[in-house]
Amino acid sequence: MPPLPPPTLAERRKTRQIRVGKVLVGGGAPVSVQSMTTTPTTDINATLQQIAELTATGCDIVRVAVPSQDDADALPAIAKKSQIPVIADIHFQPKYVFAAIDAGCAAVRVNPGNIRKFDDQVKEIAKAASDAGVSLRIGVNAGSLDPRLLKKYGKPTPEALVESALWEASLFEEHGFHDFKISVKHHDPVVMVRAYELLSEQCDYPLHLGVTEAGPAFQGTIKSAVAFGALLSKGIGDTIRVSLSAPPAEEVKVGLKILESLNLRERHLEIVSCPSCGRAQVDVYKLADEVTAGLEGMEFPLRVAVMGCVVNGPGEAREADLGVASGNGKGQIFVKGEVVKTVPESQIVETLIDEALRIAEEMKLA
Ligand code: SF4
Repeated sequence: MPPLPPPTLAERRKTRQIRVGKVLVGGGAPVSVQSMTTTPTTDINATLQQIAELTATGCDIVRVAVPSQDDADALPAIAKKSQIPVIADIHFQPKYVFAAIDAGCAAVRVNPGNIRKFDDQVKEIAKAASDAGVSLRIGVNAGSLDPRLLKKYGKPTPEALVESALWEASLFEEHGFHDFKISVKHHDPVVMVRAYELLSEQCDYPLHLGVTEAGPAFQGTIKSAVAFGALLSKGIGDTIRVSLSAPPAEEVKVGLKILESLNLRERHLEIVSCPSCGRAQVDVYKLADEVTAGLEGMEFPLRVAVMGCVVNGPGEAREADLGVASGNGKGQIFVKGEVVKTVPESQIVETLIDEALRIAEEMKLA
């Protein structure tokens, strides 16, 4: 009998399904991870190079900014050569929406605070997107909220963000177009979580989660993990983008780890390391860092325990695939909780890597 899938905290909320190129979003599809390039879109080679890095890191969908005609002109080459679906991010100019659709982009992100200016073109956008099989994202941001709603609510409250998104959705619905996902981003996780909760009660469109301007890597990671965790643990959210003031590959790594932590993705490398204490007889922080670096990129599920002493080490290591409990200048190496060898401290990292590769081979053959 195949093993049961690992438990999640909630059933996924039932949403419509849309297509972003080859990636399905909503309707029970796996939660996808997105990022955005930071290169000038006009620099086609640099942008494709960054997309290749993101793809190798595990990114499912990539977004590129299209602030000018030159950027729009670069889209056909980027959309054609990217290994993952490309979303064009259009803020102001409706003509770039049509350019992005013609260029072969998988989806287009439009900003409701600005789309009011081109109400009369919604019908044409809906038709062009529908004919090309391209989906849209209605992306509401606290920073660019429709001025009408800003006046009504006084600030970008959860209610204001949701009203803006649903109003924008209604413009497309009037023309029978429903192939879009929605985001209601805010830099404050509390406002953002409440906005998505309200939105999920009022529509069944797939939701793109994001804490906007989340900050530098440490703060942004915490804010995103808390906000996404609160929503995903209730089954809310169909695709995620972690926004960090850091290279975009870092955003993807954080996004994937959030999903892995909630069993929404298969866990790959998981380091179970102790916090160290007065009993530790080895530098646990250094050892955990070295083991993590040595095993980074493992493509199969592997839980590795790194323990600072032999008091709790063996017990903690028992649940892991592989582990070490250190003491007296040596490391006891465990495989599935059994001591398989004892090596000098200087050989712990290389021994763990060798054992991990051996276990990987066995998994491949199984
Ligand atoms: Fe302390 Fe040992 Fe537990 Fe690490 S495994 S926290 S060193 S008792």
